[in-house]
Amino acid sequence: MKWDKLLIRYGELSTKGRNRRQFTNRLRDNIRFSFEDVPTLKLQAERDRMFLRTTSEEDMQTLLKRLPTVFGIQSFSPVAYAEKDIDAIANVAIDILSEIELTGKTFKVTVKRSDKSFPLETNEIQHLVASQVLRKFEGLKAQMKNPDYTVRIEILKEGAYISAQTIQGAGGMPVGSNGRSLLMLSGGIDSPVAGYQMLKRGVRLDAIHFHSPPYTSERSLDKVKMLAEKLSHFGATVRLHVIPFTEIQEAIQQQIPKNVSMTTTRRLMLKIADQVREDIGALAIVTGESLGQVASQTLESLTAINEVTSTPILRPLIAEDKTTIIRLAQEIGTYETSILPFEDCCTIFVPSSPKTKPKLEKVQFYESFEAFDEMAEKAVANRDVYRFPEKKETKPFDNLL
Ligand code: ATP
Ligand code: MG
Repeated sequence: MKWDKLLIRYGELSTKGRNRRQFTNRLRDNIRFSFEDVPTLKLQAERDRMFLRTTSEEDMQTLLKRLPTVFGIQSFSPVAYAEKDIDAIANVAIDILSEIELTGKTFKVTVKRSDKSFPLETNEIQHLVASQVLRKFEGLKAQMKNPDYTVRIEILKEGAYISAQTIQGAGGMPVGSNGRSLLMLSGGIDSPVAGYQMLKRGVRLDAIHFHSPPYTSERSLDKVKMLAEKLSHFGATVRLHVIPFTEIQEAIQQQIPKNVSMTTTRRLMLKIADQVREDIGALAIVTGESLGQVASQTLESLTAINEVTSTPILRPLIAEDKTTIIRLAQEIGTYETSILPFEDCCTIFVPSSPKTKPKLEKVQFYESFEAFDEMAEKAVANRDVYRFPEKKETKPFDNLL
């Protein structure tokens, strides 16, 4: 089947006027960014929908494959062209239906006759096309209410466009329409999913990772880079800030009693993350925390950790079950990377019985004996920054969604 264009339906778009314009402009720019390797792509943005065209069949396949990763698209339909002749239109409709694996039994034809000079009326076109379809597909019946398939015909000046398939988009809002946040990205399952959820809300992301060589290996860092790269497939570059965390972790081991060392570790991570956030002009911090999952994720712990900053901490997974998070990680293609067996800086230093209800005053008291603030500033200054995708031409999208 030769598709001539793709019809894009916008996602959540309750806003009007100027905001609507910003939304469509942003979506258009993001689609251009996602398909920089498709130079034949032409976009036409309208108020209620957008059309993508390409002259190359291969490029059309690329569009069809990758479009479900672009946020801000509710659904899209491949559309085929036909001459403005009733038989030609019916033939294309039949061709399209032949392409679909027909599991359902009912269909209807809808017609939008924008070119009023077309000699047949809407219901005549409907009737003629439907009867040809019925003749061709024996198992199919016409049904106006909730049919399995809808053949959409639009008659314009330049010709007729026909579609019969609606493909689910990624939903959400175009990345960049809701400011920038800093994602605390570990090598685990949760934080990449949290990042995905925020990207889906239109938030642009930088990521921060705490690395403690030689306790954590170069391979564990590679794993985090792979995760940052995977997140960048969802339509925006992701910068990764890698913080040298060894000195601080060793100081914590020496200075802080074991049962609250986890709380102090988290507090310092958050403090450092907040400095980086300010530096890059981001508005919030995102984590993969989920209530009750581990000792550091009780409400008491979260409160003690959170005390170091008044910056909004976004925790999109806070009420999510682990099984749901795992399913999401599998869907977005980060799970396989997350379960690679490389150690994380926290699992190495994690005490056997961390307090689930740490006392803030005690934690503050122990921390006061060490120059943690200076160490934090030094770590921020000595961070390495990477940018993903590294090379725009090679985007491995194969195992995505
Ligand atoms: P994850 O699967 O995201 O690692 P987790 O269930 O293992 O989460 P923790 O290890 O307690 O939970 O981490 C809680 C959150 O703290 C993570 O989701 C992440 O946002 C942040 N975090 C933990 N370790 C690091 C790290 N080394 N660098 C950056 N952020 C981290
Ligand atoms: Mg973890």
